[in-house]
Amino acid sequence: MLLSRRAFAAVPTLLLIPCLLAGAGFIGLSWTGIQDAARPEVTPSPTPRFEVVVLGRAQDGGLPHLGCERSCCVNARKSGRLETPACLGVRDLETDRLLLLEATPRIEHQVGLLHEIAGASGRPRRPVDGILLTHAHIGHYAGLIQLGREVASTKATPVWATSRFCEYLRTNGPWSQLVELEQIALNEITPGTTDGETEPTSFEPLPGLRVDAFTVPHRDEFSDTVAYKLYGPSKTVLFCPDVDRWDAHEGLLEKLLEGVDVAYVDATFYDGRELPGRNILEVPHPPMIRTMELLEAMGRETPGRVRFIHLNHTNPALNDLDLQDEIRGRGFPVAEVGERVGI
Ligand SMILES: [Zn+2]
Ligand SMILES: [Zn+2]
Ligand SMILES: [Zn+2]
Repeated sequence: MLLSRRAFAAVPTLLLIPCLLAGAGFIGLSWTGIQDAARPEVTPSPTPRFEVVVLGRAQDGGLPHLGCERSCCVNARKSGRLETPACLGVRDLETDRLLLLEATPRIEHQVGLLHEIAGASGRPRRPVDGILLTHAHIGHYAGLIQLGREVASTKATPVWATSRFCEYLRTNGPWSQLVELEQIALNEITPGTTDGETEPTSFEPLPGLRVDAFTVPHRDEFSDTVAYKLYGPSKTVLFCPDVDRWDAHEGLLEKLLEGVDVAYVDATFYDGRELPGRNILEVPHPPMIRTMELLEAMGRETPGRVRFIHLNHTNPALNDLDLQDEIRGRGFPVAEVGERVGI
């Protein structure tokens, strides 16, 4: 790789995207890292049919964050650094179909990156073949508005969400107009519960890609909240960008990680230092230090299996490369935009 990670961080992300895409270097490095993390398997996995790509890793407001005058965002504004909200893309390697997990306010940027990686073009009215939504907080669904008549005017792009979330979209503008004009087609999912009482009803947002949703505790003002497990023929990926504290819900973390090869989990806050005056024990997210403590052995035995996503702009793990190295050394990398997992 030509750029050191430190130099890499200093260069505006927008300028780097062509390098990211052109250079087998960066993506190849990340790819290798994940492959290494899964190496303990004795029997070789079947060939991956899908590729999961990280398209964004910040909390809902991204970085720079509106109104933030701290060094995290002042420096980002100066350097042109951009971190977009947590988002995964999935590419079917056989059919080139594309799926998004979340429709973030930076959907154009993120779909652009997915198209670059997939070599996709000629699809103005169907930029992706489907969208899975976790919950109705702005960083996770507000990008749907770009599918409307003012922008892409898509034709019945399938969207998967819980019944409560679908009802919210159907009955509240401007989302209801997307439904009425058939720019999106809603599909209601039936999540399972992490206490094992209710099994999820599996669905296939892309042919051959089985997905289960699990209800997770979170601030549920307009919708409930889910985490997704994506089952490819080769590997299983968990996406859980927003969740309440692990300690308040016995068995939650274990159930979510069950059978999962690579997990992208909520890393909104590091240890509370980013919230002066607030007690971290009262913050309704699992601090990264607690997740690493609970999974210490897993970090040692299968490094890279749990990867952090949805970092707040103030989170030192988003901005301090020495801290990122330390966390990675414990087996818990911060997700990198552009990294891929074959599943
Ligand atoms: Zn969020
Ligand atoms: Zn900031
Ligand atoms: Zn949320």
